[in-house]
Order: sequence, then C-alpha cells, then structure tokens
Amino acid sequence: MTSLPSNARVVIIGGGIVGCSTAYHLGKLGWTDIVLLEKHKLTSGSTFHAAGLVGQLRSNANITQLLKYSVELYDTLEQDTGLATGWKMNGGLRLACNKERMIEIERQATTAHSFGLEMQMLSPREARDLWPLMDISDVVGAAFLPTDGQANPSDITQALSKGARMNGVKIVEECSVTGIQVRDGRVTGVSSDLGDIDCDIVVNCGGQWARELGQMAGVNVPLCPVEHQYMVTEPIDGVTRDLPTLRDPDRLTYFKEEVGGLVMGGYEQNPIPWAKDGIPEGFNFSLLESNWDHFEQLMEQALERVPALENAGVRTLTNGPESFTPDGNFIMGEAPEVQNFFVGAGFNAFGIAAGGGAGKALAEWIVGGEPSLDLWPVDIRRFGVHHRDAQWVRTRTLELYGKHYTIGWPHEEHKSARPTRTSALYERLKENGGCFGEKMGWERPNWFAPDGVAAEDEYSFGRQNWFDHVGAEHEATRERVTVFDQSSFAKFLVSGPDAEQALSWICANDISKASGTLTYTQMLNSRGGIECDLTVARLAEDKFYIVTGTGYRIHDFDWIRRNLKEGLDVTLEDITDTHCTLSLMGPKARDVFSQVTDADVSNDAFAFGSSQEIYIAGAPTKALRVTYVGELGWELHFPIEHALEVYEALMQAGEPYGIGNAGYRAIESLRLEKGYRAWASDIGPDYSPLEAGMAWAVKMKTNTPFIGREAIAAQKEEGLKKRLACFTIDDPDVVLMGRETIYRNGERVGWLSSGGWGYTVEMNIGYGYVRNEDGVSLEYLKEGTYELDVATKRIPCTIQFGALVDPAMERVKC
Ligand SMILES: Cc1cc2nc3c(=O)[nH]c(=O)nc-3n(C[C@H](O)[C@H](O)[C@H](O)COP(=O)(O)OP(=O)(O)OC[C@H]3O[C@@H](n4cnc5c(N)ncnc54)[C@H](O)[C@@H]3O)c2cc1C
Repeated sequence: MTSLPSNARVVIIGGGIVGCSTAYHLGKLGWTDIVLLEKHKLTSGSTFHAAGLVGQLRSNANITQLLKYSVELYDTLEQDTGLATGWKMNGGLRLACNKERMIEIERQATTAHSFGLEMQMLSPREARDLWPLMDISDVVGAAFLPTDGQANPSDITQALSKGARMNGVKIVEECSVTGIQVRDGRVTGVSSDLGDIDCDIVVNCGGQWARELGQMAGVNVPLCPVEHQYMVTEPIDGVTRDLPTLRDPDRLTYFKEEVGGLVMGGYEQNPIPWAKDGIPEGFNFSLLESNWDHFEQLMEQALERVPALENAGVRTLTNGPESFTPDGNFIMGEAPEVQNFFVGAGFNAFGIAAGGGAGKALAEWIVGGEPSLDLWPVDIRRFGVHHRDAQWVRTRTLELYGKHYTIGWPHEEHKSARPTRTSALYERLKENGGCFGEKMGWERPNWFAPDGVAAEDEYSFGRQNWFDHVGAEHEATRERVTVFDQSSFAKFLVSGPDAEQALSWICANDISKASGTLTYTQMLNSRGGIECDLTVARLAEDKFYIVTGTGYRIHDFDWIRRNLKEGLDVTLEDITDTHCTLSLMGPKARDVFSQVTDADVSNDAFAFGSSQEIYIAGAPTKALRVTYVGELGWELHFPIEHALEVYEALMQAGEPYGIGNAGYRAIESLRLEKGYRAWASDIGPDYSPLEAGMAWAVKMKTNTPFIGREAIAAQKEEGLKKRLACFTIDDPDVVLMGRETIYRNGERVGWLSSGGWGYTVEMNIGYGYVRNEDGVSLEYLKEGTYELDVATKRIPCTIQFGALVDPAMERVKC
C-alpha cells in the first residue's frame, strides 16, 4: 500500500517497535481508521540494531506491569500473527560484587515480589551453574528472574505490524512526515512528502527523531540520542541456547546468547552524545562507526568476567544511536501543549522490553481519553520549562546514562545541570548550611548542616550522614518553630464570574465556601482515582488561589485546563514564578507570626483552614492556615522581590523562640508521623480517596456533580478491594524506603508506597495498600497479623490506625 488516504482518525508517525505496537493495540481495541507512516522501512530506526534483552523489573509497579505484559505478548504473538518473534524465556541473572550491591539486589528482589515477579537469590556457585563461562572470584551473590528473556527486535516489530494490518491498520513506508497542522491548540493533520492527511489524532513514535517531530507541532519531547555499543562474537564453546541473559552492573556490562556466541554491551560512564546539530538526512538502517577505543573500558571488564572472550572471534561491534531521556524513563501521553498530540518515545535502550506494554498503554490512553492506569513515571507532563533547553537535556541525560548500572542509592540526587532554578533565598540558605536537592529544576534545601559539618550527602543503604541533623530539624518543628522555603510550590489563579462553577466540577471537595476559606481537595479521574492533590484558597467571590506540588506544575495545570467546561467565563493562570512561599511551622509559630504582622492571628480571628491577605515587612502576603507537618503554622505566599525581607523578619522575630531552618527531609518524616498522603506514592490516579482513607474530603453529601462522582458512589456501594494502612517497626536498624512487601497472615497483600523514620515516635513508618479481591474492611485490616519483607527478610510489624502524632493535632487546630 503506497497511496495515502486523505484523512484518518489517527496518524502514527514511526514504524519502530513502539509505533507498530501502538498500531497493533489500537487495532485490537477496534480502532481501524489508522495510518502508520514510516519514512524509510519498518524497524529502520533504532529497532533493527537492538540487542534484544527483555528485562521486566523497574522501580514502579505499573511500569513493571507493562514490561510483564510485553513478555506475555511476545510469547503469544506468533500464534496471533503467524510470524515468529525469536522470544525465549531463558531468564535473567544479575550479579553483585560487593556488600552494598548485594543489599541493592536484595531490595530489588523484594520489589519484584511486591510486584508479583519471581526473583530468586542465588549464591555465586548457583549463579555459575546457570552461566558456566563466568569467573565468580569477585561475586558476592546473584539474583535470577526466571521469566526474563530475549527476543528478536525486528521480528517482533514485523509481527506487530502484520497483526495491525490484520486489524485494518494501513502502513505506509517510504513516507516522511514533514509538517503537523495545529488549529486552536488541537491537531488537525499531517503533511508528508507523499501528501497531506487530515486527522483527529497524531501519535509521535519517532524514536530519536521524536524531538524534531514534536517541534513541528510546538511540543517538547526532551530526549537526546546517545551512542550505544555492543559486540557480537563467533560461537564460543559452552554457550548454550538456553543461557540466561546476564547483567553485571559492577562491571557495567550485559551479555546474551546469539547463535552460539555472545552479545556483550554496557553502559560506560563517559557516554558520547550524538547528532547535537540534528540527525543527518537519510540515517535509516544506519549505524555509527565502531569505536573500539571507547569500548575498551567495557571489554576489559567483560574479559575478567568471561575469560573465554579472550580467544573468541569478534563478528561485529555495533554502534547504534538510541534516544535517552533526562530521568532514564520513557515519554508517553498526550502533550500538554497540543490536544490530541500523543507521544511514545525516548526508550533509553529498553524499548524492546517496553514496546509491547507501552504500545498497549498508549493505545488505551488514546481510546479512553485518559490512561487506563497510573503512568506518572513516564507521563510527558513530568517535564518543565527547563526541559526545552537541548543542552540541559543532554547534560542530565548523559549523567543518567552513566548511572545506568551504578548503585541506585536511596535519596540520591543528580549532580549535573545544577543549579538551574534557585529561590530568592538560595544564597542565604546556603550560607546557613543548606544541602540542596533538585526537583523540576529547582534547588530545594533537603537539610541544613550545622557549623563544622559539610553540607553533603553521603549515600548508603543504612542511616545516612544527615540522619541526626534532620532529626534536629524535625524536633525543632515539633517543639519550637521552623521556616521551610517552599517557593518551588506550583501556584495557579483561577478567576472570573464562573470560577466557582468551573472548580466545583473539577474538585472532589466542596470549594464553594465563603471568601477566606481554604479547602484541601483532590481532583479525580472518571475512575475515581486521584489525579491532583492540592489546596484551594478562595480569595474573593470570583478568585481562587491553588497551591500544588513542585513536580506537578505542568500536570495539574493541564488537568485543570482540559477539564474547564466550554462556555464558562473563567481564566486560569500559572503564577508560580512570581510568588515565593515560606512555611512557618511549629507550636511557637503564632508567637512569631504575631510580631511580623498587624493582623490578628489568634485562633478565633485566623482559624485553621482559612486564608487572609495581610502584610509582612511591607510584602502583600497571602497567609494560608494549613499544615503538611502536623503542627500549628501558616504558608506565606508573597511576591518574590520581598523574599529576603520577609525571611529576615521571621528569623528575627523567631530568635527568642529558637527558630531555625528546616528542609524537605524533615517535612517527609513529619508528614509520615501525621499520616498526610503524598501524591505519586501514597495516592495517585489508581487510588480513590475512599481507598486512601480520605472520604471526608469528598463532597458526596452535597448534590453537586463532579468528575469521578459516579465512580466513588459505585465504590461506596460495592466496598473497597484495597485500603491504605500504616505500619510501624520499632527496630531502628531497619530502614524503610518504600516498595517493601506487606504480608498479612503470611500472604502477600501489597507493598509500601512510602516509608521512613519518625523521629518523634522513634519508629520506622510505612504506608501501603492492603489488597484483597473479596474486600478490605477496617475489621479485615484489624484482624490480620502483619510482616514487612525488607531486603528479602520478613520483619514483624504493627498496623496502626489514626495519626501517630496525635497531640500535635490539638496544637494545629487551636
Ligand atoms: C545498540 C543498542 C542496543 C539496544 N539493546 C536493547 C535491548 O537489548 N533491549 C531493549 O529493550 N532495547 C534495546 N535497545 C533499545 C531499542 O532499540 C529502542 O528503545 C527501540 O528500538 C525504540 O523503538 P522506537 O519505535 O521508539 O524507535 P525507532 O525504532 O527508532 O523507530 C522510530 C521510527 O520513526 C521513523 N521516523 C522518524 N522520523 C519520521 C518522519 N518524519 N516521518 C516518518 N517516520 C519517521 C524512523 O524512520 C524510525 O523507523 C537498544 C538500542 C541500541 C541502540
């Protein structure tokens, strides 16, 4: 088929594994008016030269789920299409060569069990039994995932494209997309060298070309092509067809069997970016020149692991560019800039493993108008303005590539491309010992080093060097008063005569209260899942001020914008960059606050859950009586040019009360004790407020319609199948960090969504959903005996009901 239709419902750009998988799954969902355009031949981008390892385990349950689905699909695709995929489930081995790596793979094994994947811990000898050619003199232990495997990338892609065609999808090769039409913020068609197609939806599956394709529509796809090499040997004695894939992260290398020989590749720490000035014309079915000098560092490591390589003949050294991203995860979803423009790209050298599941998820997102499950780690809306800068993206991407096989430390911060955004108080906080982390490009104080202590993280799997210092900030907040610089909070204004009506439809809680009221609310999807979790302050009859998390700025703005009903007189503005936020928290907060403002800040005049516009040190300030740490306090929002004056005024007034700075790690331990949920871990699109224990924040008692209302009503009727619960472990030597498996009466029932240490209660605290198909009532929770699996060891724990730090609530409310 070479002639081009003049219109189609969906145009998919790119005939690699991801484009073909998306087409296949759209066809399966009954959408057949679809055209896939490939500028050269199918597979001619990155797909044809992939090594073909298919690993499944990721740090997020749903992304692991997608990869598990890929395996199921590759296993059955031949039956469906008659074309073989080369899939074999020969398992995957992962080695550990030091104590810390061993802890990492033990924690990964626990994560695998949490997500329903079998992963066995092996001794070095047991590992060698599976992979006899390897030297194990430096191996401490290993883990084996029996359902991992390998496949032939081109064959899978051809099978998917055949399956798509069988379902009516048109595939046109040798057709290059040259332009994308957008009208009123919505896609209307594409131009190509064979002609134009009018369409409702465009899907950009352009691999490393996806950035350029995105630019045609004004959409940012932050990825960067990087050179990636692997070597293929002649047959080697002892390499059998059933040899598992092998990952040797301490030696930065991976291996797989190929026609009796080995494929060996790796992730060097000095990667080489490619095509900085754009991908050359005609780069299809093309490779880069083999770079033996650069590959030598990996070769040296591999020879020590597999001495037989010494005498093996080398067939090729493949150097193929692949698109990598600044956080190591791929990019999916509907672009916030343009409606009906979808992206599935940036697969970081696991596009074969992810292709099957990613195509399915993308197809479901297109058909359903929203993702069918929480895909936040790969959602295109996780990127911000700074991700438009190609240099920034390249710098951070290269750091992430180099870290592919380094140990993933808890609380690890990236080093490159920093600082990018600093609050007006950055220098002052740095002088005061601030140790900064980065989120959405912002430098934010994680903790403060006292005099004589270096403001630097030292990573380990145990208690890290900042542990006691964060404990001191935690205590200062519980006992006295502290200031948190939260200027990176995203802030929106919703105004106009129909502002209340618009927000009432989007918010699950009742925001139609008097001016000066604050409402904590979620915004739900049609499944009743929590899309946004934020605070809405009514400033006036026709004006609402919304505060949400730093990382969710683009996502939440997009969610609100796309759900504003047509015809309403309402304006949505993002004022993040003009406003600074300082949070004054602790039992002495009122004493300090009363000295810096003429406003009456007594409980009667300024109650919990209210807001006022006041002045502090000459700064017009929105003061919000709210807390995320479980203490009396106010969030103070004011124009950025007043930052230093307001900060100094608070510090001066607070001196007699022992005021101090506190950072984000203290916020985390404080909120864990108080039981406040965190979006993207404890709550998100897969969890409803009922399941998260927040039914009180949903306006079911009113008759007001809102998005997700029917789903919540149905859930109330049917009962819950999962419920968020709090678990504690007293032993201070245990370290909880999330993903630990929850066992109830010896049965696996879920995993921790977050975990950490509570300094006031002196306990490890973890939150996680307990799941049961037959229902999870409060009685069911109470009746169980619980254990948490931490790095493959089962540890008894206590289930807790209610906030762990309760006395603080009295202080909060009065
Ligand atoms: C050396 C190497 C080894 C790898 N090993 C593995 C592995 O072991 N396991 C694994 O899971 N992954 C591996 N990968 C990664 C994997 O190859 C990729 O993630 C995957 O192929 C990406 O597929 P894609 O469909 O997104 O992109 P591509 O395969 O690049 O497809 C994009 C397509 O878009 C087309 N296109 C671009 N612009 C236009 C236009 N204007 N009009 C029409 N068409 C256009 C291109 O021609 C191309 O065919 C490896 C990659 C490399 C480089």
